[in-house]
Amino acid sequence: MNADAIADRAQGAWGALAEIDSFIERTHDERLADYLEFLRIPSIGTLHAHDADTQRAAGFLVERLRNMGFDNVEASPTGGHPIVYADWLHAEGAPTVLVYTHYDVQPVDPLDLWDRPPFDPVVENGRVYARGAADDKSHGHLHLWAARAWLETQGRLPVNLRIVFEGEEESGSEHFDAWILANRHRLTADLAMISDTGFFEGNHPAITVGLRGLVYMQIDVTGSRLDLHSGSFGGNVQNPANALATIISKLKNEDGTITVPGFYDEVRDLTDQERSEFERLSLDESSFIKDHGLYEIWGDPEFSVLQRRGAQPTLDVNGIWGGFSGEGSKTIIPAHAHAKVSCRIVPDMDPDKTFERVSDYVASIAPEGVKVDVVLTNHGMWSRTPIDNPFVQTAADCLEEVFGERPFYLYEGGSVPAGATFSDKLGLPVLLLGFTQPDDQAHAPNESMRLDNYEGGLRTLVRYWDRLGAKAGQARE
Ligand SMILES: [Zn+2]
Repeated sequence: MNADAIADRAQGAWGALAEIDSFIERTHDERLADYLEFLRIPSIGTLHAHDADTQRAAGFLVERLRNMGFDNVEASPTGGHPIVYADWLHAEGAPTVLVYTHYDVQPVDPLDLWDRPPFDPVVENGRVYARGAADDKSHGHLHLWAARAWLETQGRLPVNLRIVFEGEEESGSEHFDAWILANRHRLTADLAMISDTGFFEGNHPAITVGLRGLVYMQIDVTGSRLDLHSGSFGGNVQNPANALATIISKLKNEDGTITVPGFYDEVRDLTDQERSEFERLSLDESSFIKDHGLYEIWGDPEFSVLQRRGAQPTLDVNGIWGGFSGEGSKTIIPAHAHAKVSCRIVPDMDPDKTFERVSDYVASIAPEGVKVDVVLTNHGMWSRTPIDNPFVQTAADCLEEVFGERPFYLYEGGSVPAGATFSDKLGLPVLLLGFTQPDDQAHAPNESMRLDNYEGGLRTLVRYWDRLGAKAGQARE
């Protein structure tokens, strides 16, 4: 390519973005009205009374994707709420991005804590207040409009897109993995982009590159068929509640490290780059303590709070029960006692191996005189995308261009089931790019979305598609 051609291309790309930006400006009111219309649909996926509404939200998306010229648009049946699928695959030679958001929302109770009705959106203080305004209808709507801005002004997208909008994210994604596996032939892509996360404290742009996985299990300790009289049997039998307490007390050291042999064997060391990214993030520990009503921060002294959250595994008792806990006294030796235990796992831990190690260890420390079973409830894989992955860096460039600062890279402590699915089942790099703010009160009363984050998000997405397409063009020449 000669210098003139390069200048032409730069001019051309600039021309397209200028047209798109002016489309974004000119359609502001129409877009906001369309967003509010989406938010008026009470698509509470987990409540059957709202099944028709949840269907309606899927229909809202289907209609718009069809109108703007996507192919294969459908509300695909899953056994639960449908997955809205659509694709646009005419950008020859350009990367294919699988875009994920969800159109179901959390229930709204307690309703009396809402200052405004949850499904009658109100624009105030530069925010839209409604259930789903942030989580996750903002992102679904942003993706619709980013694609529309390109298609309506340029008649094309610079990348190939496959859209997957789920309707059961807030109710446990029961049918998601099965649908993905059954449809994997039409989900080939170069990148999975999940838009269901947001910025860092203080509204700093951020890209989430790491998620922890989960291994969930239950420990059941049985000593007898029925509860026993503690006078007649006390001293002659093992007590299941005591035995369970003994087991639990041996799972961790006093400094919080986990005693299960081999538990940390596959934990990947952070790279220098990852370590310095953790150092860039500053967490105000005193407000962290205050905001969450903590007594104090406690954990493995070798790591910072954010490292412990994003890059270290955990083992926690989630619940424990057995015997008598009613009013007054009842002199029994409980027949059985139980605990639910979960581990958050990080690269390169294997969920099955982790479960095996914990259950083998529990068997080895189980006190005599009782039967101890450890049962796997469910597990999910972690995901981590290297910061220097070009898809990540290009997204960072676009965020910086629009929001004026280089984004942070976040390693979340939680799990996003779709992230694990795309990384583990489809083998795709996973990029979590979202634009909500930490104080948006997702899942809580008075949920809201900052409109400048929404508009900046739209400009970021249209630029991201442009850059990915242009890079592919350069690579071909
Ligand atoms: Zn969500």
